[in-house]
Amino acid sequence: MDFKIYVKDVNEDNRQEKFEKAATELSKAMDLPITIRHREKEGESFLYRAQEELVEKWIRYVGKILDAVYLGLCRYFDLPKVTTFRKAVNDNIDDLEPLKFKGKILFNPETGKPITRKQWKEIIAQIEKFLNRHLKDVEKKMILESEVLGRILNRMLKYNTREAIEALKLEELKYKNRKFETISDSIKKLRETFNLSDFDTQRLILAEDVLGEHITALTNNLKSGIKKVFTQGIRERKSKGKLVQDLFDRFGDINRDWRRIVEYEVNDNINNAFLAEEKANSAPDEKIYLQRLEVIDQGTCKHCEKINGKIVLLVDEPLLDEKIKDKYAEIAIWPGKSNIGRPSKEWWVAAGSQHPFCRGSWERVYPDLAEELGVEVG
Ligand SMILES: [Zn+2]
Repeated sequence: MDFKIYVKDVNEDNRQEKFEKAATELSKAMDLPITIRHREKEGESFLYRAQEELVEKWIRYVGKILDAVYLGLCRYFDLPKVTTFRKAVNDNIDDLEPLKFKGKILFNPETGKPITRKQWKEIIAQIEKFLNRHLKDVEKKMILESEVLGRILNRMLKYNTREAIEALKLEELKYKNRKFETISDSIKKLRETFNLSDFDTQRLILAEDVLGEHITALTNNLKSGIKKVFTQGIRERKSKGKLVQDLFDRFGDINRDWRRIVEYEVNDNINNAFLAEEKANSAPDEKIYLQRLEVIDQGTCKHCEKINGKIVLLVDEPLLDEKIKDKYAEIAIWPGKSNIGRPSKEWWVAAGSQHPFCRGSWERVYPDLAEELGVEVG
């Protein structure tokens, strides 16, 4: 077989896309599953190493579960072996029990030999059981850990330079001499350690619920996606190679959805927790000014570039308009302030994540005190 690939008009911006497309076309022509895919470079740079670790931890955790389902299906249906783009498959799920299906199914998409409805019901039920077992309480753990991280960062920044905190690993973080892990294992511990207000407890419960809904939607998508791939594959009499490629793509989509959710929710909760901790340790009438911190590099979006370094005022209640009249801040933020549902043209300065894959953060500043003392801030 001879193949020629022409990739035209390549430039810095479209390079990735063009070559990926070429690789996809080549695989298709050879009826081979694509085994290369770029490592996803999405989003802005992380300010704190611990923040990145936490995000990665939860992306990997669910990624492994998805891989186990994918591999289980490949084995069960005797589909050609495919390694995935996230290198994770094969070498990274060792500590996770494999998903095994009962019985034996002989199906053949090429001859159209189908899988019966009864068999499908059984397969989906087994996937469901597997997912339920491994995803149980994921939303709780993820929210608790994000909350603890936000509060610890706030606390540690009071006594250390930011540079020092930026480099710390999750396991090195401490709050009043207690390690990250020991505080974040239950809401009860959190309440004891941080003296959570009722408002903050409620905020946590709501965040867990939102994340729980995301996870439910994700598993539903997965189940219906798997069934759709097989049903269409058999109906259209695709080759097993094509079918496994479709399956692989489906899992890739779910993986990306999950990544997006983790990124948004973890960073949103870190930031809101950071603000809550600041509030909890301030006098009731104290004006809390915060400065926006973004890592400015190629990955930074226009919005974040614009708000980087801005000083905002933290207020308790939501306002209709974020613009305020204040000597030091033009903009107010409040707990929960977000851009969800707002068109990007009208994005405001959110308290938590500005957008998915946003990694910016806050730092407390004291322009009012600085003026009294006659020094400059910012
Ligand atoms: Zn941004």
